[in-house]
Amino acid sequence: MRSIFDLTLNELEDILINNGFKKFNSVQVFEGVYKQKVRSFDDITNISKDLKAFLNSNFSLKYLNILTSLESEDANKYLLEVEGSTVEVVLMKQSYGNSLCISSQIGCNMACAFCESGRLKRLRNLSVSEMVLEVLTIERAINERIGNVVVMGIGEPFDNYENLIKFLNILTCPKGIDLGSRKITVSTCGLVPKIKEFAHLNTQVNLAISLHAPNDKIRNELMPINKAYNIEKLMEAIDYYIKETNRRVTIEYILLNSINDSLENAKELANLLKGKLVYVNLIPYNSTSSSFARSSKNRIEEFFDYLTKAGINVQKRREMGKNIKGACGQLKASYESEI
Ligand code: SAH
Repeated sequence: MRSIFDLTLNELEDILINNGFKKFNSVQVFEGVYKQKVRSFDDITNISKDLKAFLNSNFSLKYLNILTSLESEDANKYLLEVEGSTVEVVLMKQSYGNSLCISSQIGCNMACAFCESGRLKRLRNLSVSEMVLEVLTIERAINERIGNVVVMGIGEPFDNYENLIKFLNILTCPKGIDLGSRKITVSTCGLVPKIKEFAHLNTQVNLAISLHAPNDKIRNELMPINKAYNIEKLMEAIDYYIKETNRRVTIEYILLNSINDSLENAKELANLLKGKLVYVNLIPYNSTSSSFARSSKNRIEEFFDYLTKAGINVQKRREMGKNIKGACGQLKASYESEI
C-alpha cells in the first residue's frame, strides 16, 4: 500500500478531487497526519466516514522501524529499516536544538575516495516517504521537535533530485511539518546541472558544496565527479546560484593529512573563493577504512588562520558523535558485518 508520506499537499489534493472529495479535505488530512500525528486515519476527527474509508483502503500511515541505535551525550545515531535495506540517520544535539542528518539514497555512486558511503554502492534511491519518515520516526522516538535537517547522510541528494524536491516541499509545507526552509541544508558533491536547477527553485533551503580540494589535480583523485564537472565548472555553477538566489553557499572542506592541507592549498582555496558569497566549513576527517588520516590540530589551525587572514569567511566544524561511528556509512557498515 502506498505511504501517505509520499504525497505533497498538491498531489493529495488531486487524488482526493479525482475521487469525489473536496479540495479542503487535503488540508484536513495533512493536518491530521503531520500536526496531530494520528496513528490511524480514523483518529482524524473532522473528516467524513467515506474519506476515512478511502484513506484506509489506499494509504499507509506506518513509520519506519529503528533497528539499532548508538547514543552519546551530543549525538545519537540510528539505523532504520526500509524496504529491502537500511538507512542511517544522525541526531545532533546542538546548542540551538536538535539537528537531524538524513540519508537520500541507499549506498552512493559518487565513490569519493575518503568516504565510507561510496564503498556501499548505490542500491536505489530513497523514496519521498522514506526521507520524510527519517525525520518523523526520530521525532517520535525522542519525543522532541527536530528544528534543523541536513541532507548530508548517505547518498548524493542531487542524484535523487525529484524525490528530494518533493521531500523538501513536504518538510516545509505550512499545513504539515512546517519546518522553515532556512533550517534545512542540502549538501552535494557538485552535480553542476542540478545546482543550476536548484537555483531556480525559489526556496530558502541552504546549499552546501563538498569541495574538499583547491585544484583539479587533487580533486580528481578524491572525487570522481570532478572529471565530469571540474572546479571551473563548479565555481561557475556556484556563481550562478549566488546570482540567482542571493543566498550564501557553504563550502565543505575536509582536511586530509598531507593531501589538501598545506598552506599552499589554503592559498589556492582563498584565491578560488575570494569575493564570493560563501562560507567555508573546515571538517576534521573521521577516519574510516580508507588510508586517509585527519590533519593535526596545528595544521587545522594554520589552515584556518590563513583563510581568515585572507578575508575568507571560515569556521571549523565542531565534532560530534566521534564515539558513535559518526562518519557517513560507518554504522551501516558495522551493522551489516555483524549480522
Ligand atoms: N553526497 C553529498 C552528501 C553526503 S556526504 C555530498 O557529497 O556533499 C556529507 C559530507 O560528509 C560531505 O561533505 C562528505 O564529503 C563528508 N564526508 C564523507 N566522509 C567523511 C568522513 N569520513 N569524515 C568527514 N566527512 C566526511
